[in-house]
Formats: sequence, structure tokens, C-alpha cells
Amino acid sequence: MKLAARVGQITPSLTLAIDAKAKAMKRDGIDVCSFSAGEPDFDTPDHIKRAAEVALQQGKTRYGPAAGEPLLRAAIAHKLQTDNHLSYKAENIIVTNGGKHSLYNLMMALIGAGDEVIIPAPFWVSYPEMVKLAGGTPVIVQTTADSQYKITPAQLEQAITPQTRLLVLNSPSNPTGMVYTPDEVRAIAQVVVEKEILVVSDEIYEKLLYDGAEHLSIGAVSRDVFDRTIISSGFAKAYSMTGWRVGYLAAPVELIQATATIQGHSTSNVCTFAQYGAIAALEGSQDCVEQMRLSFAERRSAIMELIHAIPGLTCVKPNGAFYVFVNISKLGLSSLEFCDALLSEQNVAAIPGVAFAADDHIRLSYATSMTTIERGLERLTSFVKSRF
Ligand code: GLU
Repeated sequence: MKLAARVGQITPSLTLAIDAKAKAMKRDGIDVCSFSAGEPDFDTPDHIKRAAEVALQQGKTRYGPAAGEPLLRAAIAHKLQTDNHLSYKAENIIVTNGGKHSLYNLMMALIGAGDEVIIPAPFWVSYPEMVKLAGGTPVIVQTTADSQYKITPAQLEQAITPQTRLLVLNSPSNPTGMVYTPDEVRAIAQVVVEKEILVVSDEIYEKLLYDGAEHLSIGAVSRDVFDRTIISSGFAKAYSMTGWRVGYLAAPVELIQATATIQGHSTSNVCTFAQYGAIAALEGSQDCVEQMRLSFAERRSAIMELIHAIPGLTCVKPNGAFYVFVNISKLGLSSLEFCDALLSEQNVAAIPGVAFAADDHIRLSYATSMTTIERGLERLTSFVKSRF
């Protein structure tokens, strides 16, 4: 069958493909230790589930406004004001089918042929593909472990051309787990304002910080940068709501209206009763978020210790999200060869760094149980030792 040319320009999502493979192997009774998709292993907190159940019982089962339930849009605006010092109103918010969909809507509304989008690498697998789907050009800026995989203001300045529309900033970062310090965010903000570009700040991991790391939302730096900022986020990671598919975008009204028009012709509203669960997530106690963060912190310590004990592997200690980005270059295998062999020989699933433009790395998600971490890292140790 002849498919549209755009399909040929993109590749399947490796994070989803490997996660699906690991889950299928588990269903077949294989004892897999999966460090693949960034999916918390906790159940969604009870009060959030109950709110969705109540909404179902109350008949919140019908079409709603394409841009989202007014109550949820208002609750998100309130959260952004209180947590992030960003002055948004409900009209500045669109509720989307997960954080991923918020970014897709943004690219469709903002980016067209000839537009360049700067993406610091290593990057989350879907950013460049979304830019390409929108007809734009991803401009990849490589970073290294020396700068903790963060783009410097000088690198950003160098990458900007008259065609640049947008910078994608993701802190805490997927896949590296690095967090830009407030000073680093301010320095990036200065370039954004001086060069008159826009920035989308993907803040889906903002609640998952360790070792005293601080999250500064770039839009809070100054009024000038606020006007050039778009926030993308969602409920999946902080509230363990991956399957609910509720995310959002916050931006100037004109842009939100454009994304709502696109959504009106593509998905319509996000599942109505799921949105009531999201309202409960924001309005209820935040203790559940802190409990999960503390568990992730313990797991991070455990996995770091185990990785450090494996000769030949190195990694920078992450201070956010729930990923460790491990350098495998000493093994002389591509990241795909490494991950394929690790899965087939040891039943351990990891994401090859090639998905994130870093073929000498693999990504391990530690949003999994301590038992999986211990057993999986034992297997990873045997795997690496067998290669030397
Ligand atoms: N964002 C998560 C990850 O990177 C979930 C999978 C996906 O959407 O890519 O693993």
C-alpha cells in the first residue's frame, strides 16, 4: 500500500516498542526484569480513582468541551500559579490526551515548513518526530556528560538561525535525569528573549527531584520570557496515571485556541471522567506524590550503587526524573546490539540510547520495584562481565 510520505520520515517509538515486547514476554510467563518505559509501578492513588468512579456514576460520560472540563482547566491554572509562579487563567490551558499529545498539538499549531526547532540531545524519542510530522526541521544540539547533558547558552545561541521558532527544554530530563539549576534556566531564558524565539518547557518530571535539586519553570524568570513560554505537562509521572492519558499545555490564549481547534477535529475532549480524576489529583493531598518520590529516591541510590560496581559502565548521577543514562561505550556494541542481547540472553529490558541520539548509552528506568532492580542489575552484571 502506498502510504503518505510523512510516515517514511519518522520511526516507531522505541520506548513503546520495547515496553510492549517486555510486557508480552511477561504475559508468556518469561521472568523479565524491565527497565524500559518510564512508567511508575505504583497504582494510581485511591482518592483519584474514587473521583473518577464518582464522575462515572454522576453521568460524566458525555462529550465535553474539546479544550477540557472548565473545572480542570481552572485547577491547572491554579496549580501553575501556586507551584510555578506562572500567571495563567483557565483560558490559557488545554487538556490533552497525555503530555505527549500536548506537544504534538503544539507542533501542529506552531510549526510548519521551513521552521526550525532546537532540540538538545540526548532528547526524548518523540520530540524530533513530532517536529517532522508538523513539517518542520529538528535542529539537534549535542551535549555531553561534561555539561551533564545540558545545553549551554553559547550552544543555544550558535544554533539559532532566522528560521528558529522554538527551543524544547526538558528539565528534569528524559532520558538523562539531569535538572537545570535556576541559574542555568535564567541564562537560557536570556538567550530566548534576546533572540526572540519561543521555548516549550516540558515539565512532566518537575515533582521528581533529589539531592536538593530545584525546579525553576523558565516562564517564571521574567515577564518577557513568560510571553515566549509554553508549558507542557501531565499527570502520568507524578500521580502514577500513565494509562489515564491526561496532560496539558499552558500558553498564550491565541495558541491555546489554535490547539483547541486542532483537537476539535482530531480527538475532541479527553475522556470526561478521567479529567475528574485529574481534578482530584490536583486538589487532594500531595502526600502521595511525596511518598512515590521517596521510593524513587531509594531506588535511585540502590541502582546507582549497583551500576558503579559494574566495571566498564559509567554514568552521571541523575538528580531528577526516574532514569539513569548509562555509558556503554567500553563494550564496543551499538546500543541496539547491547539491548537486544541483554533482552534475549538475560531477560532484561532497557532502552537503547540510539532512541535518544546517544548510541553509546542505554537508559534504565528505575520506576520499578527494588526486587526488579536487584535481580535485573545482577543479570546486567553477568551480561557485561561476559563481554570482557
Ligand atoms: N515517556 C515515557 C518514556 O520515555 C513513556 C513512553 C513514551 O511515551 O515514550 O519511557
